[in-house]
Amino acid sequence: MAVDKGIFRRTRCLALAAAVACALLSGCRSEPKQAKSTIFAMDTVMTLTICGTDQAACQQTLDQAVERIYQLERTLSVTSQDSDVYAVNHAGGAWTEVAQETQEVLERAVYLCGATQGALDITAYPAVLAWGFTSGEYRVPDRQELERLSARIDYAKLELDPAGGLVRLPGEMALDLGAVTKGYTGDVLARLVEQARDSGVTCAILDLGQSSIQTVGTKADGTPWRIGIQDPAGEGYLGVLEVTDQAVGTSGGYQRYFEADGQRYWHIIDPGTAAPARSGLAGVTVVSGSGLDCDGLSTALFVMGLEDGADFWRTHPELNFEAIFVSDDGAVSITAGLEDSFSLTQNYETREVTVLQ
Ligand code: AMP
Ligand code: MG
Repeated sequence: MAVDKGIFRRTRCLALAAAVACALLSGCRSEPKQAKSTIFAMDTVMTLTICGTDQAACQQTLDQAVERIYQLERTLSVTSQDSDVYAVNHAGGAWTEVAQETQEVLERAVYLCGATQGALDITAYPAVLAWGFTSGEYRVPDRQELERLSARIDYAKLELDPAGGLVRLPGEMALDLGAVTKGYTGDVLARLVEQARDSGVTCAILDLGQSSIQTVGTKADGTPWRIGIQDPAGEGYLGVLEVTDQAVGTSGGYQRYFEADGQRYWHIIDPGTAAPARSGLAGVTVVSGSGLDCDGLSTALFVMGLEDGADFWRTHPELNFEAIFVSDDGAVSITAGLEDSFSLTQNYETREVTVLQ
């Protein structure tokens, strides 16, 4: 009995000492906390993880983030009848009032359309619609129809009046922010997370449907976030990208497509032909500080192809982005800035990676 009591006392002492040590340590470093949620929005499954030192603050930020996603969906969706985009598309060419935020997204998107010389074109919607990518009723338009459709695509005809909060587009045209909305949403959520820093929120990984991932800070243990880069030709990840405080956007023909007459037709349209872009690329990933830019540029680079895309990267240092190109034949090319942060996964170790300079 005496021996048992001794052990009991020693154990209690150790437990007490451990509790005191924990309490002392928690003054400078407390247990990591996180709040996580999976939702369906913007036509995709999103998983949001918010981390920090205060559970209630993480949860509160997460709730605000979810609310904000639904609000952005209502404002920017091309199909929602209450959205600004819907209003512009159904105004019959008249000036239409939109929210200031919509104006800001449009301004940046139009800037990217110009910088990419129309590879990104936010007026490609008539073609997206004609191919059935909105309704799921897929069809292959004939040559004459494609010519008529491409004549209706030209972002330069979109007029913005920021002072009046107005937007105008010729009646036969239609706007679609599908190529940039998820990326922009990532930017908005990152700001929300940063604003909660004082209340104990320190980091986040916001997976807005694989094609747009926004990271804030590092993982709770101080190491970078590890983002899997999908093999466009398979199920697995061909590589891993380590990022901190950055957005990652991916566009690929494998993400949404249909097959007809033995051909695959995907949702990324070459505005010049009004048909799915066939540039020799199967997927493009862009990394940058701006989610909107990542999203818009990944779509644009997919349309451009490897050679023009690499040239675009070389000639646009002001856009401050890096990229991973995966060609139809599986070849991987990365821009120089990713040399230290990109690595192939085990199953793909024999694949050659070209570093673009
Ligand atoms: P993402 O998945 O970001 O590459 O964007 C593709 C979506 O943007 C499509 O589902 C269309 O709604 C729209 N889209 C397709 N092609 C283009 C293009 N060349 N420029 C702008 N938007 C496009
Ligand atoms: Mg995009």
